[in-house]
Amino acid sequence: LGTVAEALAEAVANGFQVEPEAYHLLQELEADQDPVTLIRKAMELKRRRKGFEATIGRADIEDLIPELQLKRAPAEEVEALAPEEIEEEVKVVKDLTGRLKASTVTEGYRNLFLSRYRKLMSIARERPDTRRVVSIANLKRTNNQGEVKIAGLLMEKRIGKGEVDLTIEDETGAIKVRAYDEPARQEAARALLDQLLILDLEGVNRRVPTVKSLYPPDIPDHIPHTASKHVYAVLTSDLHVGSTAFKREAFRRFLEWLKGNLGDRDLVRRIKYIIIAGDLVDGVGIYPDQEKQLEEFSIEGQCRIAAELLLQIPDHIRVFISPGNHDPGRQALPQEAIPPQYLSELYQRPNFTMLSNPAELELHSARLLVYHGRSLDDVISTTPGVSFNRPAQAMKLLLKARHLAPIYGGKTPLAPEDEDHLVIDRVPDIFHAGHIHVLDLETYRGVLIVNSGTWQDQTNYQRRMGINPTPGVVPIVDLATLEVETRNFLEAAREELPAEPGPP
Ligand code: FE
Ligand code: ZN
Repeated sequence: LGTVAEALAEAVANGFQVEPEAYHLLQELEADQDPVTLIRKAMELKRRRKGFEATIGRADIEDLIPELQLKRAPAEEVEALAPEEIEEEVKVVKDLTGRLKASTVTEGYRNLFLSRYRKLMSIARERPDTRRVVSIANLKRTNNQGEVKIAGLLMEKRIGKGEVDLTIEDETGAIKVRAYDEPARQEAARALLDQLLILDLEGVNRRVPTVKSLYPPDIPDHIPHTASKHVYAVLTSDLHVGSTAFKREAFRRFLEWLKGNLGDRDLVRRIKYIIIAGDLVDGVGIYPDQEKQLEEFSIEGQCRIAAELLLQIPDHIRVFISPGNHDPGRQALPQEAIPPQYLSELYQRPNFTMLSNPAELELHSARLLVYHGRSLDDVISTTPGVSFNRPAQAMKLLLKARHLAPIYGGKTPLAPEDEDHLVIDRVPDIFHAGHIHVLDLETYRGVLIVNSGTWQDQTNYQRRMGINPTPGVVPIVDLATLEVETRNFLEAAREELPAEPGPP
């Protein structure tokens, strides 16, 4: 039998990257599993796939071992438990509360961007096609007639009639480059400002080199981690309690449904988690003339009403609350959890967990990235081909950029932290955001993307912007399969809820 170190060396020699979790799994495995054989098989399987990524993750190894496969098999085949017996399995993997600078200044971004560049470069370097990156300072000296690869943050983008100009900056300097031909031109047009890009250039000795191709760090193909039993998580956001447009009746119906009073018991009794991705309340002074659309004028009062409602959630359900731009606390990202003085009753309850924005969770090994989604405004308004009615498409661009809020200087205030906490360093299984108020679902390379809609009716602002919100429609994720069901709690949908079993 070979050792784990030998297996690793073999992978590297073949141009493969082994993710730390795959490495740990190899170390944990029983003595009768040969790590070298496993790595060889994993590489072989990868190579057979079209457009494969030369990265071996934990799931790739698990797939090779029947006992582990069984653990991840569809729930029907392994589960004999009654849903009531499902134990909570929760890990808060990332919470920034208490880890941020208290300062509210908006200058001194040097460290933040250096941190962003370095983190994203180390993600990009995991791609085997990104090994030979030349620094911008050395570019003119390469004297290379063929293609040269660079990587850096996109500082400027100008979309012309037949070309797109980009200015790229790395630690050593900046350079202007131009994309003429498809698909490079379209990719360039869709690139987000301040995101990391990897570019293949031609004619580096000319004044403006030509972009042959460009791509973001992206996420590798990914087999999601899932629960071994059918256990459900309700994803929601944007209640906007305190607003005259808050759909109180629909929300009350949702609470009754959670208590099991509206039938649908097969699903309801398997709900163990509710995640609220921000905008619990409408806030005060968030936008001009907001008073006209408020029915509760103090933020404390709004929070009290929200807490009263949420306290009705049955206490076998764990509720996670992450803040949004309407909630109390600082506006600049990242945001710490909503401060205790606003939600003291919820803080005292054992089944409520307050999170920062963003935050990361593991529920029965499924990894959730929870983020309110403020930057989606900037992504949608500056990127051709994405719209407010398909927010999951914009979320996909964030995943590819491996950053939750790349664009600096738009509507999204970023705090000048020394570390960029908005880099997506761990690939999630579920990426949950809100903010746009439109329920939307998408799957990208094995990641379930959910924009969880709202409980607020269309506002004047949204009417002007042509945004059609989907209030009262709630996505529910089966953590065993990552399949999503929805329920509609608006008045009109009352009859659609399955009735209690009884005489016809
Ligand atoms: Fe909102
Ligand atoms: Zn919002």
